[in-house]
Amino acid sequence: MDDKKERSIIMFPLPFPGHFNPMIQLARILHHRGFSVTIIHTSFNFPDPTHYPNFTFRTIHHHNEEEEDPLSKPDASGMDLVTFIRQLRQSYADPLRDSLKAEVGGGETACCLVSDVVWGKTTEVAAEEVGIRRMVLTTSGVASFCAFAAYPLLRDKHYLPIQDSRLDEPVTELPPLRVKDLPVMETNEPEELFRVVNNMVEGAKSSSGIIWNTFEDFESTTLMDFSSEFRVPVFPIGPFYKHSENILPTMKNKEDHATNDWLNKQSPRTVVYVSFGSLADIEEKEFLEIVWGLRNTKRPFLWVVRSGLVRGTDWLESLPCGFWENIGLKGKIVKWVNQLEVLAHPAVGVFWTHCGWNSTLESICEGVPMVCTPFFTDQRVNARYIVDVWQVGFMLERSNLDRKEIDKVLRKQMLEEGDGMRESCLKLTERANVCLSKDGSSSKYLEKLVSHVMSFDSYAFAS
Ligand code: UDP
Repeated sequence: MDDKKERSIIMFPLPFPGHFNPMIQLARILHHRGFSVTIIHTSFNFPDPTHYPNFTFRTIHHHNEEEEDPLSKPDASGMDLVTFIRQLRQSYADPLRDSLKAEVGGGETACCLVSDVVWGKTTEVAAEEVGIRRMVLTTSGVASFCAFAAYPLLRDKHYLPIQDSRLDEPVTELPPLRVKDLPVMETNEPEELFRVVNNMVEGAKSSSGIIWNTFEDFESTTLMDFSSEFRVPVFPIGPFYKHSENILPTMKNKEDHATNDWLNKQSPRTVVYVSFGSLADIEEKEFLEIVWGLRNTKRPFLWVVRSGLVRGTDWLESLPCGFWENIGLKGKIVKWVNQLEVLAHPAVGVFWTHCGWNSTLESICEGVPMVCTPFFTDQRVNARYIVDVWQVGFMLERSNLDRKEIDKVLRKQMLEEGDGMRESCLKLTERANVCLSKDGSSSKYLEKLVSHVMSFDSYAFAS
């Protein structure tokens, strides 16, 4: 342990909540195992370091003088994410390398860089120049990563770019996916999407190991497929947030208290919790269908509407006049919640989600069945697995967001088939707990990960 105390891990998260949160959870796990942790973070979305007193934070500032500066925006809602990721990679490559040099030259024994897989080969070049080993954290599931890795094949076989006439066709090479489940996103730079994905996959292949926020029992087949194709050590040590060092007393603000008080007043398993994560956005007409769909269910609902969720509006301007008069105390709309606490609350009966990987894992770990409305990238793959493989949710496709359909699916999920789904979900919760137990696979992989990192020379590539 003493030996490890001198070891420092440098982490480089992607600056979005769905990526930063699991990186911080991983940082806590590794810190608990005796590593000191330095987090290099972009100036974009820089977090408040006082919330993470165990870690050292370094900010890096971007070099991007040529283009209009998208990175000065407060968040990435509604942006072309492919362009955005390209710009992030270009703008922060040199600052990352300079910051790494300063860290590694500073006398600490840095033994490894853990970077978000989406940074791709940006971090490979920087780590090699500085002479430090590099592992990647994949914040999505294994199945979606395999679908990304299959992009060249999917292109050769003309599944990609997606043609509207083939949406329901099965992708025979990637069961149970259909063409509409492939992990793509709308962009003005379609060729760049292929480059971004390819660069991510190549960056993972050439890394010294992939740390995965998943657990073996959950994705055993896809993990086996992955390992037979890629010769990279993998460490599925998730779900990260369920490791004991991540179960923290939460600091509640006024809003959290109000949400909790509201949930306490609802009957068990009656509340529809709705959240589409931190990046997705919707059209005003979709917003109105959701408004009326939720109202029509006559069930209590808790809905996270971030500012920026509804395109072209600040927050709730599109809410019809008189809406609350119909709803009364049955509904609650908030800008953000402590999702882990909400999902763990006994009043929550169903999670209507965009199927981001963190949300998927969190819902399964808290035993809450889902209604799935995926928007882009891995969310589509996750949704298909939730519905067809793990059988803990219903699909409500975005193309079908109509108030009658919303009412029908939510009721079906809650009333008619709710118990069965919840039981299936609780079985998965139990399997996650087994994997996290002392002799479970996630604990064993964590031991292996610690030994693996300890085996790196401090300056692996130094001349
Ligand atoms: N989250 C939260 N409060 C909210 C909405 C989301 O704490 O009101 C958290 C959620 O628990 C999850 C993360 O934000 O850990 C979202 O990650 P996910 O992968 O589900 O989706 P993304 O935001 O990346 O699309």
